[in-house]
Amino acid sequence: MQLFPCPFCGPRPETEFHYNGEAGNIRPDGAQVSAECWAGYLYERSNPKGAAREIWVHATCQEFFVMERDTVTHQLAATQTPGFAEHAE
Ligand SMILES: [Zn+2]
Repeated sequence: MQLFPCPFCGPRPETEFHYNGEAGNIRPDGAQVSAECWAGYLYERSNPKGAAREIWVHATCQEFFVMERDTVTHQLAATQTPGFAEHAE
């Protein structure tokens, strides 16, 4: 089992975390965008092979954070939370 680094609780089993989407997928103003742009926000993902920035939530403390990881090797690079320093692994 892999350990994920929660910025608030420290290393915890991966089963305590839930994937919450790609980091940087900014919600557009629904009243101002075309249907194609809105559909892109909802359904299109980059699905990178290699380095990825993702939003995760730790189910135990309910905190959201950004985790950088390699989708091929599962190597973790860092975690970030708004207003907190980066935690390198
Ligand atoms: Zn936590």
